[in-house]
Amino acid sequence: MTTPILTDTHSHLYDTAFAADQAQAMERAFEAGVTRIFLPAIDSESHEALFDCVRTYSDHCYPMMGLHPTSVNESPDYRKELEIVAKYLASPPQGIPKFYAVGEVGLDFYWSQDHIAEQIDAFERQIEMALTYDLPLAIHTRNAQEQMIATLRKYQGRGLRGVMHAFAGSYTDYTAIKECGEFFFGIGGVSTYKNSSIAELIPRIPLTELLLETDCPYLTPVPFRGKRNESSYLRYICLKIAELTGTTTEEVARITTENSRRLFGI
Ligand SMILES: [Zn+2]
Repeated sequence: MTTPILTDTHSHLYDTAFAADQAQAMERAFEAGVTRIFLPAIDSESHEALFDCVRTYSDHCYPMMGLHPTSVNESPDYRKELEIVAKYLASPPQGIPKFYAVGEVGLDFYWSQDHIAEQIDAFERQIEMALTYDLPLAIHTRNAQEQMIATLRKYQGRGLRGVMHAFAGSYTDYTAIKECGEFFFGIGGVSTYKNSSIAELIPRIPLTELLLETDCPYLTPVPFRGKRNESSYLRYICLKIAELTGTTTEEVARITTENSRRLFGI
């Protein structure tokens, strides 16, 4: 039997956390069956590392382009950063055939609540970019579930689609988000933690709406919680979802990879 492909729909394997052993971490991912890896952008400081990673692993890595909400906080001139995002979406740099999503973008009021207006502005501008280029969104939401849904509602009926990365909302949030467009829900290491509310929610969401993600180097699943995360650990998330939904890991891998194909168009 051939092992089904596992797709990590949210990985920062180009992060400085992997400066010393990126090649080995990549190799471990491939050996674990994680042969498709989507890489969200953060800001211009790490664009070159992202592009280098995609150029080196062009058969396995798929880049996104976008400005992360916490980078809006740190950048008094975040509009310049948005211009860079717009420039790359219009014309990808050499060696990068295309961007597969606008991401990661969104709202994060955890670290600071001093830049809410700027974050919403940056998010809305990037939603417009996604609509212009008919790309899905990879959406980050932290301590901002209500404002996130309010923002997405403004675009209801305009063909929004994307993934709610590291989804941590309630069932009510889940149904509200689905009313705003065609959304998938990214499940990562948090689902393996004790008393995880997302673990309780997973059996209520159809498998056809779930995507697997590590968000490495962050949100490391059990049994490696507390250590650096990496894409090869996606198999523990796959296993957890199989347990929670009463199906096999093969089935979870097959369906979630198929979902990622539908969303990202590969
Ligand atoms: Zn991320």
